[in-house]
Amino acid sequence: MRLDKLLAHSGLGTRKEVKKLLKKKIVEVNDEIIVDPKTHVDPETDTVTVGGESIDYQEFVYFMLNKPQGVISATEDHVHETVLNLLEPQDSLQEPHPVGRLDIDTEGLLVLTNDGKLTHRLLSPKHHVDKKYFAEVEGLVTEEDVKIFKEGITLTDDHESFETMPAELIILETDEASGTSRVEVIIQEGKFHQVKRMMEAVGKTVIFLKRLSMGELKLDPQLELGAYRPLTDEEIDLLR
Ligand code: URA
Repeated sequence: MRLDKLLAHSGLGTRKEVKKLLKKKIVEVNDEIIVDPKTHVDPETDTVTVGGESIDYQEFVYFMLNKPQGVISATEDHVHETVLNLLEPQDSLQEPHPVGRLDIDTEGLLVLTNDGKLTHRLLSPKHHVDKKYFAEVEGLVTEEDVKIFKEGITLTDDHESFETMPAELIILETDEASGTSRVEVIIQEGKFHQVKRMMEAVGKTVIFLKRLSMGELKLDPQLELGAYRPLTDEEIDLLR
């Protein structure tokens, strides 16, 4: 890759700022001062230093975002803000993408990465990665609903009929006065509006939905809505 790209992706500034660094003659590749931003370098085998310090380049980036309502889980959209608009410009340089989708009105855990293999693994129907949600619903959830979720539910739309894998429905609270319930739902797939449609199938309407975990990875409770942070190495391992 180009040297200016490598330096920019290592957190040393924009391409313009990186060019200034190069002009200062403080960038060395394999102990040789380099000024040409177009110089080709291999991050695996070349040693790049700036002012004598090794640079910190990582090919893959991994972030955990606490998605707020009102933004969509896509890389671009003509109408709404996307989750990528929530990233600092520096963190967008390596073009992370959201792993899977949350509805515009769903909050919670969203992983962003440029590691295509990991994305594929997490989304592949073969791997059955559990997704856990907290939901507030209109209607009083019953033990019968719990049983129906466990057996799997047939969801149909214009294009297909789909039988869900067994899902866990955990009743946290039912409030007769307001006619609402608070539940947790664990699903194994990630079909379009899956939790909402499963709830509709038992006659309840989701009024609030938040993803709490994906596989072993849990949403960091310290992360404010709209905030994000890099995943730790341990968290990345949990997803592999
Ligand atoms: N299920 C839904 O209905 N919506 C989401 O955003 C995620 C799961």
